[in-house]
Amino acid sequence: MQELDDWARLGVEGHFHAKHPWYAYHEPLMEPLARVVGARPNEVVAMNGLTTNLHLLMVSFFRPSGKRTKILCEAKAFPSDRYALDSQLIHHGLDPSEHLVALEPREGEHCLRNEDVLEAIAEHSDTLALVMIGGVNYYTGQFFDIPRITAAAHEVGAIAGWDLAHAAGNIPLKLHDWDVDFAAWCSYKYLNSGPGSVAGIFVNDRHGRNIDLPRFSGWWGHDKAERFEMRPEFKAIPGAEGWQLSNAPVFSMAVHRVALDMFDEAGMPSLRAKSEQLTAFLEFVLGDIGAGNERGGFEVITPSNADQRGCQLSVLMHGHGKELFEQLTASGVVVDWREPNVIRMAPVPLYNSYEDVFEFGVVLREAIERNKQEV
Ligand SMILES: *Cc1c(COP(=O)(O)O)cnc(C)c1O
Repeated sequence: MQELDDWARLGVEGHFHAKHPWYAYHEPLMEPLARVVGARPNEVVAMNGLTTNLHLLMVSFFRPSGKRTKILCEAKAFPSDRYALDSQLIHHGLDPSEHLVALEPREGEHCLRNEDVLEAIAEHSDTLALVMIGGVNYYTGQFFDIPRITAAAHEVGAIAGWDLAHAAGNIPLKLHDWDVDFAAWCSYKYLNSGPGSVAGIFVNDRHGRNIDLPRFSGWWGHDKAERFEMRPEFKAIPGAEGWQLSNAPVFSMAVHRVALDMFDEAGMPSLRAKSEQLTAFLEFVLGDIGAGNERGGFEVITPSNADQRGCQLSVLMHGHGKELFEQLTASGVVVDWREPNVIRMAPVPLYNSYEDVFEFGVVLREAIERNKQEV
C-alpha cells in the first residue's frame, strides 16, 4: 500500500510530501463520495464513525425549541440510531417516551408505508423538530421515498435527516436534488471499505454555507488557510468539511479511497441496473423454492417493487430459521441472521454473479428438503 510505504519513508513529513498528502487526505475523496450519494463535492466529507456523526449532525440540526421538540423515526430503527435519538432527547431534557414518535408498520404488515410516514408528519406538524429515518431499513430492506418524506418534513417546518448506512453504494441517491438537510452513512457495508472504516456525512449546501450554524467544533473544521495560525476563535470551513473534528485516519481512508475508485469505475447507474436484475433473479429463485412449501416455509418481507428496495431481500422463516441459516453458512454462503426469524440475503452487483444466485438456490433447496426429512 502506497500509504504504508510513505509512512515508512517519510514519517511525519507524509503530511505534506506523501503521494496523497495526509494533511488534505479527505479532499480527493469528496468528489467520488459525492457521486455515490448524489451531492455536490462540498456537501460531503469522510470522517469519524456513523453513530459519532449522527450525534454531531444532531447537535447542529436537532435544536428543539418551544413546542417543536419531537423526533419522528421508525420503531424498527437500527438500535444504535435509537440510542442516539433517545440520548439526544435526554440531553435536551426531553423524555423520549413523550418526544420520540416511533412509527410501527400496520397490523399484519412488515414494512412501514410511505403514506403512513407522511400522515404522521402532518399529524405531529409544528411539534416536529426532526424526521430521522434509515433510507433502507436494515431489517426489511425497504427503501423509503426520501424525496417525498423530506418534502413533507419541510412542509411542517421540520428538518429531514437520513441514515444511509444500507443505502450508500446500494441505491443511486440524489441527496442534493431531494433537498435532504443532512445524512450520514458508514463505509463498511455496501461501500466495502473495511471493518469500522471511516464514515461519511452530507450537509446540504443551504446549511453548510452558514458558518455560524452551531456545532461541536474541532481544528479540522477550521478555515484551512488559518488552521496552523492556532488562533483561539473557531472559524468554520464552509460546507461539510466544517463539521470535521480531527485529522484524518489515513490508513482507514486509504481503503475507502480505493473502494470509491472502484465505484467510480463501475458507476452507480450500471451497478444499480445489474442489482435490480440480480435481486429480481434471487426473488424468482426463492419463489420457485417457496411455492407449496408449508413446513420450513418462508416469505419475503422486502417490498417486491424494485423502486422500494436495494440488493437485499429479507426472508421471514416460518420455522427452522436458525437451523437453515446455520446450514447455509456451513455451505459457504454468507447470509445474515436477524432475530427473531429473518435471514437477510443480499446479492451485490460489484462482486456477485447470476451463477452465485443460481448456486445459492440449489444449496437452499437441498437444505430445506433435508430439514423436511428430519421432521
Ligand atoms: C450499521 C449501522 C450502524 C452502525 O453504526 P456504527 O457507528 O458504524 O457502528 C448504525 N445505524 C445503522 C442504520 C446501521 O445500519
